Amino acid sequence: MNSVKQKVSYLKGYIDGLHIDSETKEGKVIKEMVDILECMADEICSLKNSNGEIKEYIEQIDNDLINVEDEIYGLSEEIIDEGCEYNDEDFEEIKCPSCSESIFIDKTLFQSNEHLECPNCRYNMVLCCKEKEKTE
Ligand SMILES: [Zn+2]
Repeated sequence: MNSVKQKVSYLKGYIDGLHIDSETKEGKVIKEMVDILECMADEICSLKNSNGEIKEYIEQIDNDLINVEDEIYGLSEEIIDEGCEYNDEDFEEIKCPSCSESIFIDKTLFQSNEHLECPNCRYNMVLCCKEKEKTE
């Protein structure tokens, strides 16, 4: 791995090997530059590390979010499926014999001959496949 830190270490070792006089103007500048480079390399290294941690953390959150989305979308799909059952073809319009209010009823209710109370006038009807009979 050729990290910035390794390169700076190499450069520092190389400069040390040259035995540059740190009391000269050039020596002072070079020493200062190497210090700055070392400092930058440290910063970059720690940024990389924390970046890796953040990336890991985001991936964790992303995975959790996928689970949550699955649950929410799974639920809404169920709701949509239920909603699809209530299309117009499954309903029959009848008129209340008492108040003439139009009532939409599920066809499955028709077939089971159940009693139905008019939501408008509370008139009690018997639901039948072919005709609607009065109960009273
Ligand atoms: Zn009615």
